[in-house]
Amino acid sequence: MSFKNLGLSDALLKAISEKGYDTPTPIQQKAIPQILQGKDVLASAQTGTGKTAGFTLPMLQILAGKPIQGKRQVRALVLTPTRELAAQVLEDVKTYSKFVDIRSTVVFGGVNANPQIRTLRQGVDILVATPGRLLDLHSQGVFSLKNVEFFVLDEADRMLDMGFIHDIKKVLRLIPERRQNLLFSATFSSEIKKLASSFLRNPVMVEA
Ligand code: AMP
Repeated sequence: MSFKNLGLSDALLKAISEKGYDTPTPIQQKAIPQILQGKDVLASAQTGTGKTAGFTLPMLQILAGKPIQGKRQVRALVLTPTRELAAQVLEDVKTYSKFVDIRSTVVFGGVNANPQIRTLRQGVDILVATPGRLLDLHSQGVFSLKNVEFFVLDEADRMLDMGFIHDIKKVLRLIPERRQNLLFSATFSSEIKKLASSFLRNPVMVEA
């Protein structure tokens, strides 16, 4: 099994090969083709399994394949529980998007919001965020979420442990109903299952 067999574009394959990966991990082998087909995915995967590339690569391919008209707006939203994870996800997005025309940024709390606001105002396709700062900047009218067509909830179990359920629900009310959704979690409590069934449409289940 190679990345090429998964249906990824040459621009992404080039970035993957520069990064030095030759073989997709099990979660990548299972998740990437499903995501490329437009399916909602419920993925059971811990950190260290390659889950970030597992959702980032197909997300980039889908967005890069749809040219935008006019100003760049947020088309993909990735929510993470912590600023460290958000920063790591953005770093991966930047690495894999080196040869495609996609702009991305990250927002999280605990730091000055002004640089984040400036970047958002210039227009991005992909926004990686922790929930509190996302809602704060959105309520200030810094960016719109009306064009989000791809939504990822990363480490959903940690998000619930950290008390983000209400913020997640608020975010879900701000994005269009018609969209593709992915949920990644290491564990599947009844709360996670309930949350998953509240917003995923006929999800395909994949395990690392
Ligand atoms: P993650 O589970 O997304 O935190 O990724 C864990 C680590 O595996 C990261 O350092 C990635 O850069 C690395 N990684 C992801 N996919 C692959 C792959 N196909 N081959 C080798 N390393 C990978």
